[in-house]
Parts: sequence; C-alpha cells; structure tokens
Amino acid sequence: SRYVYRFGGGVSDGGNGDKNLLGGKGANLAEMASIGLPVPPGFTISTDMCAHYYENGQKFGSGIVDEVTMGLNHIEVATQRGFGHTEDPLLVSVRSGARVSMPGMMDTVLNLGLNDQTVEGLAATSGDPRFAWDSYRRFIQMYSDVVLGLDHGLFEEALEIAKEDKGVHLDTELDADDLKALVQRYKDIVEQELGRPFPQDVHEQLWGAVGAVFGSWQSERAKVYRRLNHIPGDWGTAVNVQAMVFGNMGDTSATGVAFTRDPATGERAFYGEYLINAQGEDVVAGIRTPQYLTKAARERAGAKAASMEEALPEVYGELARVFDLLETHYRDMQDIEFTVERGKLWMLQTRSGKRTAKAALKIAIDMAREGLISEEEAVLRVDPAALDQLLHPTLDPKAERRVIAKGLPASPGAACGIAVFDADTAERRAGQGDKVILVRIETSPEDIHGMHAAEGILTARGGMTSHAAVVARGMGRPCVSGAGTLAIDYKAKALRVGGVEVKEGDTLTIDGASGEVMLGAVPTVQPELAGDFGTLMEWADKVRRLKVRTNAETPNDCRTAREFGAEGIGLCRTEHMFFDAERITAVRQMILAENETGRRAALAKLLPAQRSNFVEIFEIMKGFPVTIRLLDPPLHEFLPHGEDEYAEVARAANVGVEQLKQRVAELHEFNPMLGHRGCRLGITYPEIYEMQTRAIFEAAVEVAKSGEAPLPEVMVPLVATRAELAIIRQLIDATARKVFEELGRSIDYLVGTMIELPRAALRAGEIAEEAQFFSFGTNDLTQTTLGVSRDDAARFLTAYVEKGIFARDPFVSIDEDGVGELIRLAAERGRGTAPGLKLGICGEHGGDPSSIAFCEGAGLDYVSASPYRIPIARLAAAQAAL
Ligand code: ADP
Ligand code: MG
Ligand code: MG
Repeated sequence: SRYVYRFGGGVSDGGNGDKNLLGGKGANLAEMASIGLPVPPGFTISTDMCAHYYENGQKFGSGIVDEVTMGLNHIEVATQRGFGHTEDPLLVSVRSGARVSMPGMMDTVLNLGLNDQTVEGLAATSGDPRFAWDSYRRFIQMYSDVVLGLDHGLFEEALEIAKEDKGVHLDTELDADDLKALVQRYKDIVEQELGRPFPQDVHEQLWGAVGAVFGSWQSERAKVYRRLNHIPGDWGTAVNVQAMVFGNMGDTSATGVAFTRDPATGERAFYGEYLINAQGEDVVAGIRTPQYLTKAARERAGAKAASMEEALPEVYGELARVFDLLETHYRDMQDIEFTVERGKLWMLQTRSGKRTAKAALKIAIDMAREGLISEEEAVLRVDPAALDQLLHPTLDPKAERRVIAKGLPASPGAACGIAVFDADTAERRAGQGDKVILVRIETSPEDIHGMHAAEGILTARGGMTSHAAVVARGMGRPCVSGAGTLAIDYKAKALRVGGVEVKEGDTLTIDGASGEVMLGAVPTVQPELAGDFGTLMEWADKVRRLKVRTNAETPNDCRTAREFGAEGIGLCRTEHMFFDAERITAVRQMILAENETGRRAALAKLLPAQRSNFVEIFEIMKGFPVTIRLLDPPLHEFLPHGEDEYAEVARAANVGVEQLKQRVAELHEFNPMLGHRGCRLGITYPEIYEMQTRAIFEAAVEVAKSGEAPLPEVMVPLVATRAELAIIRQLIDATARKVFEELGRSIDYLVGTMIELPRAALRAGEIAEEAQFFSFGTNDLTQTTLGVSRDDAARFLTAYVEKGIFARDPFVSIDEDGVGELIRLAAERGRGTAPGLKLGICGEHGGDPSSIAFCEGAGLDYVSASPYRIPIARLAAAQAAL
C-alpha cells in the first residue's frame, strides 16, 4: 500500500477528504495547493505508517524508504534545490499532524537539512550568512530537543553566555561570526552529552525527525490531551515533510498566525498577529510581543508597532484575498499560519478555527445570514457542550472591582477562585473542592491538567494566540493572558503588582472578556438569552423531534428552566421538599412513629406544605406535563447522623434520645442503595405515597380551577416487578378518585414508572400493562447494570477510561452497548404492549449531547435535564435529528 502523498508544485495527491489518512494538516495543505494557493511543496507520510511503525517495534519498513525518496524528489524538482546539496541546499520542516488538531501537543522540526557544508551553501545563495548560521543554530537546538532528547536549557544557556560575552541583550544583535561560534558550541554540547557528534547526514536527520514525530504521539502530554478530548490512541499521527520558506530573511520577511474572523467574539474582521523577521514558533512562544495584523486592531489597542497592513501593504492585500477565498471554499472560519519570504506570501496551514462559544454562535448565525451555510448547518456548527459558557454568569458591571492588572481578553467569562501557581497544585486543590485560578508566567503543554482543573487561567506573558489563550478557549475556561505587569515568583508562590502581593490561596477574579484581573471575589450577573442565542434556539427547535424537559423541584429552578425553554418537568424529586428545615421535623415524627396512626398524624402535617409546593410548580409549568416522583430515598437519610444532633432532634420530634438512637439503629442498612427505598417504601408504608398523591391531585385541581389544567404524571421509583407497580397504581387511582370526588372536579393524569433496574427493563412488556409512561432513570440503571456505585467509582474509573475499558465515564455519557441495550429493549417491549407508551430519560445523561443522540436513535419522546443544560439539550436534540 501507499504511504506517501505529495502536495504543492502543481500536484495534490490528497485533499480535504483525506483527514483520516493524511491528518488535518496534510489534508488541508494538499487542499490549499489544489485550489491554487501558494503552499511550499512537500509530502505527507500517512497515519497508517504511524500504526505500522508502532506494530513493527518502531522501525520503518523498506517500502517506505523508496516512497520517501520519491517524495523528496518531488520537492527537489519543485524547488529546484537538492536535499543535502552544498550549492543550493533544500531545507525542510518535519511536522506532525493528527486527524484532529492537538495544538502544541506534538513536535515539529524546522530547518532540517543543514550541516557544516550546506550551511555555507545557504549563506551563499541567500547572500545572508547571518541568516544561514542563525538557521543552523535554531536547527541544532530544535533537533537536539525534539529528536535527540537533550535538555534545551543547555542550549539556551550557551546562547545567553554568547550574548553576555558580547555585551548584548537581543539574539538579533549577534552577527554571523558570533552565531558560527555558537553553532560550534552547540555541536560540542551534543557530543559531550551523547558521546557522538551531531548528525551531519541529512537523511539520518530526516529519519530521526520522522521517528520523533511518530514518537511524540505517545508522549505523556499528548496522551493527557487525548484523554481529555476523547481522541482514540490508535489514530496515530501523519508526518508532513515540507520545503522550508523563511520568515527570518530580513525586514520584508515575516511569519504570522491569523483567523478569518475574531475567534473570541466572532466579529467579521481579520484577526491575527505577526512578527517581522521571525520564524515559526517565535509568534506563539511569547518571546517577542507580536504585532497586529490590521491597522484597525492596532489602533483599537493603542499599540505603536506597525500592523502588517501598514508595514507590508501588498502582502497584506494578498493575505486578505486568501482569507476570503478560504472562507468561501471551506465555508467556515479558518485558523491560518503563514510566512512571508522576501515579500512573497506562503500558506503553511489552515484549519477550522477554534473559537469561543460566543464566537461559534455569532459565526454560525452570520454565515447563515450571509448565505454561506444553511440554517441547519448553522445548528450543526455550534457545539452544544460549549453553550455552557454562554449560559453562565459574567461579572456584574455595576459591582465594585479592585483591578490590580490588565491583560488580554483571551477567553471570555468571569472566573473567581484562589490563586495557585502550578498545575499540580491546581489539580490537587480543585480535587479538594476549591475553585482555583491557575496563575503562570506562561503556560506550556505540561500545564494542561492544571488548566483543566482551574476555573480560570491568568498569564503574565503571551498573546491572544499563545498556548494559554488557545487551550483555554478550547476548554471554555476564562483566560486573561499577557498581563505583563504581574511579577510572578514561582518559588515564593506569589505574585506582586503595583504594591499588592497575592499569595497562593488568596482570592482573585479574572474577566476573560475585558482582560481585567481583580483582587477578591466580584459578583456576577446572568447572561443574555435573546439575540443570536435566541435565533439559534429557534432554528434548533424547528428541526428537533425530542422534547426537552427539566429535572427541577424548586420554583426557582422551574422558572430558570422555563426561561431556557424547558417543555415541562421530567423529574421532580419530592424528597428535596422534605429536607426543608420546617418540614424535617414532621418527616422525622413520621419515621419515628410507632404505628400507622402515628405516621398518618405526622403525614397530615406534611400534606399542606407538599401541596403548596406542587401548586407553585404547576403554575410555573402551566400547559406542560410535570412528572413527580414519589418518595425514593431510604428513610434513614432523614435522621440525624452525628451524636451531637440527637438531643435536639429527639426534643423536636418529641421522643426520647434512646428511642431515637434505637430507631436509627433499626433503620441502618448495609447497602442502602439496594435497600428499603423507592417503591418498597410505598409497599410497606402506603400512607406515605397516599399523602403525596393526595397533595399532587389537590394541587392540580386547585390550579385547574384558576386557569389551565396541569398534566401531572405520577412516577413510581425503583420498580422491579409488575406486581409492585400494580399495587401502587391502585393506591394512586383510588386516591385520585377520592380527591376528585371531594373537590367536585377531576383532571387528567398519568401513572408511570422509572425504569432503573435491569429486571424492570427486561420485563418492560408486562410492566407496561400497568404504566402509561416509562422514564429511564439512567443514574441508577447504570449503577445497577454495571454493578458500579457512582459514589465509589472515582477510585478506578479514571484507570478504566485510560485503559480503554470504558470509552467514557458511563455516568456522564450513556454506556450504549450495555445500559443502552436495556433501554432499547425496554422501549421495544413496552411499546409492544402499549403502543402509545410515553418514553423519556431523567438521569444525568439527559443533558449530555452524545447520550441525547442515543435517545433520538432509541425513539424516546423526551429527555430531561437540569435547568442550565436545557439549551444544550435542545441543540443536541436538533443535531441528533439532522
Ligand atoms: P503545530 O502543529 O505545533 O502548529 P506546525 O507543524 O504547524 O506545528 O509548525 C509550527 C510552525 O513552524 C508553523 O506555524 C510555521 O510557522 C513553522 N513552519 C512549519 N513548517 C514550515 C516551513 N516549511 N517553512 C517555514 N515555516 C514552517
Ligand atoms: Mg501549526
Ligand atoms: Mg433512581
């Protein structure tokens, strides 16, 4: 089979559709070349080769060598240069590129092909010896780091010494001779460290780099990134070998990164940064401060250094044309890397740009309005999970802020937490339940676990396209980058700014929308739900089939859910109402009662309170169904647990301390999750469910009298058998009849059950004879199907996900093969008995996009999610339907 695909110089063996084979970078380089954009010629070694390489004990087969030789030949012909030639040497970059972009996770080597001879050739043909020796120096440094595994600090130190010896501060102040001497020093370091000289054979260099790129796929940081982003480990990376173009050939040369629209706000304006006389990583590394691309952006920022539009107007004009072309071609916002070599523009990368949720929303709506994409495509363009960022609070504009520094607004949203100064501490403190702000001079890929654990990220260095900014936007973490006035001291775990000292553990607030850094906690306000957001939701609602309900029991949550568009309640947990300080006493009296009479007396006190709860909820949910689950948790959850509480509780419940203790002991269960709970309570203490049902129907009638009748759906939890449900259903129906008779009015209602035990799923056919709806309680169904306790899973779940035993945490995304199979089977058997059976899901999974896609496929009628996840569910349901 074939492993090498060429691009550039009038050839494109691959294209946009070949991302799996060529990786995103390789496929897009080929695509850009094929639409006539200036791409330095090169070739891609496919991802298949990466798999092959690992299968073969990290060796290259012989076939590949020939193919690579042909690929090199293609570049030589196209550039009219020879690889390893002393006259006019061809230099290449060796670049990694996986199917999906993993920014900064894997390695790239630039200027490969330089040795003691070719450097002279480069000096001669470029007419710029300084440039040639600088390139050689960079190459040795990069190659030694990436391929030879040497500490790059050794080289940086040598560079510092060279500058000190000469009494200068900047790299650019070193001349050709200085750099030549430095190269010698670098080579000595390599020989000292490795006991062999720096490889002079350019082919050896090339294979070393290719192997290192494959190797970087298995680096720790790449593994962590894949785990966080659910990227399978067997995809592998492609390798791109490409002719070098030079942004470091003087003042008409430059290198830059750009977005075709603003990735933070979505605004339709070219956006980016560039550096004159620089190469590759210089822009993102945050070593020199990059300059703005457009004049407008420069002026807005009040910056002095000329924008590219001003400094290199012709190339800028061409770049702008390329931007437009790329957007029309890809029909999406693009993230671009380019280099200008002596006035000529070269495109080095394009990909769909990462963007904030706000930008994703605006770009999708704008592009649909511009006619670039359809409304349905717009719906598909916004990641439902990312909507979360838009639904959460931002800083209250009226709140007082003690601003201590200002950086760049790198990723929007407000975050507040304690300052920590390294990623490990961030992870540890977050694990202990603290909200943390990770403060770093700049971040690197080694920090991602800490960035993930943090509420927000603050850096002293780096631009809008720095590592911190890009990763934070991808993760949806607020980020302020490049707050240059911060003096951060890692050793002291503190930062100083304008006479203020912030130590580890002190509270900071950052505003990723303004770039402000504030001392202490600043209050926040709710987000705006009209505008583009409303439009997207409207478009989503047009295409979705699944209804979206909410899991809510407090009036506040119900109202929030309605504002977010919930179409009823899928799960109202009545026990939450029992924990209320005023009611818990009556609940305890009920539990402690000696007999039914005592229980009924206590329940009678609870009835009015429970009823008024339901009245309120029915009123908010006017016209929508409301599923109310009867009491579910084991009774001992309502009793005190600590010695110190006993006396007070005993007094309040009017029993003796000893009696209370005895009852607590009686109620003790070895495995409460599988104990006396759910409908088992209703079977043993029917008066509890009777009171709850009465409250529901009395409330429903009351609300119906004053307006629209609600549709209560009474739900029985933890049913395993048809007989259980039959008994409780009789009780519910009898209570309903009684209440309707007493109040002289009846209303419609449904009785149904949760399906949360495997037996219930298996026997769904007969259970459906007693049920008008099923609601899949996937939290418990996952626990009982997998035999895994959600509360104890933390100890092994990460290892399970890492080892690929579970693709994802089954409590977050439904285990489709196991739990999913039970759901499909129960749906089928249930509907086999009762064709109109209403089906929904009320576990945590109801708000998870991939689980929602599963629900669509399984033919459920609705999903139910917590209030803040309603818009996510609406969008995910729409995407699942498309
Ligand atoms: P990453 O995936 O980390 O962005 P890249 O392979 O894109 O790594 O390389 C990083 C940078 O190196 C590019 O943005 C570009 O500036 C520079 N670079 C890569 N290949 C070349 C090349 N052939 N000529 C000039 N610069 C290059
Ligand atoms: Mg790149
Ligand atoms: Mg349950």
